[in-house]
Amino acid sequence: MDFEFSDEQKAFRKVIREFAEAEIAPYAEEWDRTHRFPTETVLKMGELGLFGLPFPARYGGSEADFTTLCIAIEELARVDQSMAITLEAGVGLGINPIATYGTPEQKERWLPDLVAGRALAAFGLTEPDAGSDAGATKTRAVLDGDEWVINGSKAFITNSGTDITSLVTITARTGDDEISTIIVPAGTPGMTVEPPYRKMGWHASDTHGLRFDDCRVPKENLLGERGRGFHQFLAILDDGRIAVAAMATGVLQACLEDSVRYAKERMAFGKPIGANQAIAFKCADLETMTEAARLLTYKAAWLKDQGRPFKQAAAIAKLYAAEAAVTATREATQIFGGYGFMDETPVARQYRDAKILEIGEGTNEIQRLVISRGLGLPVER
Ligand SMILES: Cc1cc2nc3c(=O)[nH]c(=O)nc-3n(C[C@H](O)[C@H](O)[C@H](O)COP(=O)(O)OP(=O)(O)OC[C@H]3O[C@@H](n4cnc5c(N)ncnc54)[C@H](O)[C@@H]3O)c2cc1C
Repeated sequence: MDFEFSDEQKAFRKVIREFAEAEIAPYAEEWDRTHRFPTETVLKMGELGLFGLPFPARYGGSEADFTTLCIAIEELARVDQSMAITLEAGVGLGINPIATYGTPEQKERWLPDLVAGRALAAFGLTEPDAGSDAGATKTRAVLDGDEWVINGSKAFITNSGTDITSLVTITARTGDDEISTIIVPAGTPGMTVEPPYRKMGWHASDTHGLRFDDCRVPKENLLGERGRGFHQFLAILDDGRIAVAAMATGVLQACLEDSVRYAKERMAFGKPIGANQAIAFKCADLETMTEAARLLTYKAAWLKDQGRPFKQAAAIAKLYAAEAAVTATREATQIFGGYGFMDETPVARQYRDAKILEIGEGTNEIQRLVISRGLGLPVER
């Protein structure tokens, strides 16, 4: 067994940490407070090559392994979950479907800008009445001559309304028992991007509902095989779960570092609070959870990089790391006392932001469902 990252991966982590410390950390509190999506910073992430990491050189990507992408996501989440999810969703939900299922023409048209991070793509699966039960999709796409006519709505779609969003890939019912995936370019008449949600966290991440009223796109915008939309998004979500686990690992790392530092500095009753076992043991638990989440995350990423089955490992990593991140942010907030409850304290932001890690890209309950099925249990949906 080899638990070491390669020299290249270690050097890459250092570059991303320096970037995150210089370009994101100093501004994250302000973006959170003002709910601002910092397009200029996302473009810088693009210039650094982050959006192109796992994609072919032919489209401007660097053909890095999935582990390397996870390192980038972890490092961004350590300072700001909003920028980490912008990358995670941009690559995993935005670009990945086009790169995996697109025709050569679709790839030539969309990938160069997306891979360079000059544009963002979004993935519209969730609907107001179809989240975990994504098969209950009601959005319809009907062929009318050479065009799909789309009617319906999508809920909570990340990166769907930024200044640089170029497309949204949506799932739609193309027959009674048939779900397909269709590319809708940004600005297509009939697609309305609803006002941003008022969220508990991820304030600097872009999230909108979408409405489709007789929205017409060319029939060539079908992504992948007609009727395979359900299968396609399940595969896309397996990758995404490892990436969300990497985000959670970054959150845990931030809680650990902040808590240990504060436990050494903060004085109460004439001694550092970390001299109390009650606080020291919380730090010990943070260290343990961080280590466990990292191992599970990179084991799943490694399996994927080896071309081996990773569905179960991805669900386990996502479930554990997300739950640990929520526990860790709560405990770190406790260590910071009253200051921990102040919005501007990084652990307070991490606390508000962390909850969605247990919900997005498959809730905890859905992960447990996947893991139970992996054990061969006849558990129903
Ligand atoms: C900030 C944010 C960003 C998002 N980004 C995207 C995006 O980019 N694209 C996208 O398509 N979606 C996105 N989502 C949607 C997200 O994936 C869904 O919210 C999530 O899958 C849960 O669906 P739901 O909200 O409809 O909850 P529901 O499915 O209604 O679930 C409600 C509760 O019931 C539980 N439950 C449901 N079914 C079962 C079952 N069979 N057994 C046990 N418990 C069950 C759930 O676990 C949950 O606790 C985003 C959501 C948020 C909040």
